[in-house]
Amino acid sequence: MQVARRLEQIGAYLFADLDRKQEELQAKGVDVINLGIGDPDLPTPAHIVDALMEGASDPRTHRYPPYSGTQAFKTAVARWYGRRFGVTVDPDREVLALIGSKEGLAHLPWAILNPGDGSLVPDPGYPVYRSATILADGVPHPVPLLPERGFLPELGAVPAAVARSAKILFLNYPNNPTGATAPREFFDEAVQFARKYDLILAHDNSYSEIAYDGYRPPSVLQVPGAADVAIEFHSLSKTYGMTGWRVGFVCGNAAAVGALAKIKTNVDSGVFQAVQHAGVAALEGPQDHLPQRLRIYQARRDRVIRTLRSLGWQAADLKATFYVWLPVPGGMSSAQFAATVLEKTGVVITPGIGYGARGEGYVRISLTTPDDRLDEALRRLTKAFGRVPQRGAAEGSPSARPAR
Ligand SMILES: *Cc1c(COP(=O)(O)O)cnc(C)c1O
Repeated sequence: MQVARRLEQIGAYLFADLDRKQEELQAKGVDVINLGIGDPDLPTPAHIVDALMEGASDPRTHRYPPYSGTQAFKTAVARWYGRRFGVTVDPDREVLALIGSKEGLAHLPWAILNPGDGSLVPDPGYPVYRSATILADGVPHPVPLLPERGFLPELGAVPAAVARSAKILFLNYPNNPTGATAPREFFDEAVQFARKYDLILAHDNSYSEIAYDGYRPPSVLQVPGAADVAIEFHSLSKTYGMTGWRVGFVCGNAAAVGALAKIKTNVDSGVFQAVQHAGVAALEGPQDHLPQRLRIYQARRDRVIRTLRSLGWQAADLKATFYVWLPVPGGMSSAQFAATVLEKTGVVITPGIGYGARGEGYVRISLTTPDDRLDEALRRLTKAFGRVPQRGAAEGSPSARPAR
């Protein structure tokens, strides 16, 4: 069988290779610790699980849900936007329930692009922006996120011809995989840029609640008039530890939200109403679990960064997300380094090249692994890569030489 050409453009070689290595090691009996995936180990709060069960025992939820989301869910979303960001959104025209934000992000190019139209995708970035553009027969244009600019794109450096050919600008702050954050002023600039080139600014704000040291990430919709050009994707996955539940939402520009809703009526039939009922409980119920969650991530962040720095590795400070974006030490490629770490320690980390060409030279370490496993991973890294006290040997790193 010959698959469609658009599918052939989406390679998964690197991750597949890493998976294969992991399986080989596991088959040999190695105790593999996975710091590669961003999937919270902390369970969904009990009151949300209770709401799901309550919803599931109501036979009215067993039927098809309303396409755009239940009134209760969309209203809860609008109220949450008001409380959290001071932004007013119309639950009827400017809110759409999603089967996780990934679903909405993946369908958006179908709703906006004609074949050959461009989208501007952050590089490195969440791979869905690029692959979804390709699946819609669009052309993804990588926009570099560089460390010297705090991993914010230089929008003014996008060639005018490229910007004119594009119809979507994807942004994501707090950012996966770099952990970078964007100030409000950056969104002002992005909204202006989207206006100038008549783009839909699709902001992925999945990590808005995963932030530390008192930092509160902004919403693009806080920019006055942003809803003329912008939509914002949110997820209950990371905030409430609900990755398995598949529920998220998008807010903002009514025409774009409506176009995405039209795609969805032809593709899926919405989110199980019991899950939406639980989503209401998540958004409107007690939020005290969130600071608890953040304290745990923050403590892990501190241990990971301290350990990496003790190895002489240049881990930057992290204000938000649960990802440490580490420059690869010692001039290896990101894939070589991830493979070396896996072979020497049984610890899986993600090579940055998996997020785009500008991800080369980095690896991503996720903080969503239980404390004891994370600490074991850090012990193994220290043992394998720790420096011997006296340095200055002419060749090789100390840990690469045979012990004497
Ligand atoms: C996890 C993640 C998502 C997907 O979240 P779901 O709501 O579970 O689909 C979207 N964007 C980014 C950047 C993510 O890291």
